[in-house]
Amino acid sequence: MIATIMDGRALAAEVEVRLKLEVRRLKSLGVEPTLATILVGEDPASRAYVSSKQKAAARIGISSVGHRLPQETTAEELTTLIRGLNSDGRVNGILLQLPLPGHLDEREMIEQINPEKDVDGLTSANAGKLFYGSSDLVPCTPKGVMELLHRYQIRTASSLTVIVNRSTLVGKPLYHLLLGEDATVIMCHSKSTDLASVTRQADIVITAVGRRPQFVLTADMVKDGAVVVDVAMNRVEGRLMGDVDFDGVSKRASFITPVPGGVGPMTVTMLMQNTLIAAAKSSKILLPPVVPS
Ligand code: NAP
Repeated sequence: MIATIMDGRALAAEVEVRLKLEVRRLKSLGVEPTLATILVGEDPASRAYVSSKQKAAARIGISSVGHRLPQETTAEELTTLIRGLNSDGRVNGILLQLPLPGHLDEREMIEQINPEKDVDGLTSANAGKLFYGSSDLVPCTPKGVMELLHRYQIRTASSLTVIVNRSTLVGKPLYHLLLGEDATVIMCHSKSTDLASVTRQADIVITAVGRRPQFVLTADMVKDGAVVVDVAMNRVEGRLMGDVDFDGVSKRASFITPVPGGVGPMTVTMLMQNTLIAAAKSSKILLPPVVPS
């Protein structure tokens, strides 16, 4: 079997077309969707991520306002900026680029964001809504994974889905999204034993470890016909790679995401979608679904 490639770049471009139309509609109703980005420090990867998010916003017609703060920014200074953006009626979404420098408590800083402007879906208020099965502002990467599964008509209901990750950014929100679609979900992590015997049973394997070469999902760890979604981003000798041994696994799986070009582009597009959801909600406008399920 040769797996069908789940093309995140193509789907992101498709979704962008619909988002552009939505921006036009919002603007015609007097709403100017605006995303504020906050970057603390000079981490090159973070700078690149913020820049790609700002470029996506520009393509779609969302205004973005970038705030760059020095590495030594204090918690008080960052809090003051976030609170200012919370009360700025022109700003619909606030993106605090992670990771923050080590002296700043990420959880404490995230909690400063008004949940209605929390377009990364990371405040405990939005995580709590997801727990109870209702949230508009869902974390972007898990949301992007779900959109990919929907687009390729992967049946999640009654599937056995294994997630290799238990972070608040990826694994935990995905768990709730999949459970909400009636999947049987198992989460694995660094303390799980005999991981291969678990992943081998899965209809869908979603991996987000990012510890190459210590962890690689190889062909013997998936069953024939499995759907394999690779969220991870490893830099190996300057090359971007996921967790999956792509050549081996793609001969066994039915569907597979590439890295790059799989989940990554969807993450950025889902941030744009969340910004529009926040903008529409703040103006009490109803948004149509972006990707028909
Ligand atoms: P993280 O917080 O470090 O989570 C990594 C997870 O992998 C943890 O749950 C960890 O278990 C588990 N793990 C570590 N070693 C393992 C092993 N040997 N076997 C099984 N599980 C193991 O990182 P994250 O923020 O969730 O991100 C994970 C990966 O996804 C990274 O590569 C990141 O770059 C990528 N990512 C990509 C996107 C995108 O847009 N494509 C977005 C976000 C993240 P413990 O909990 O026990 O430590």
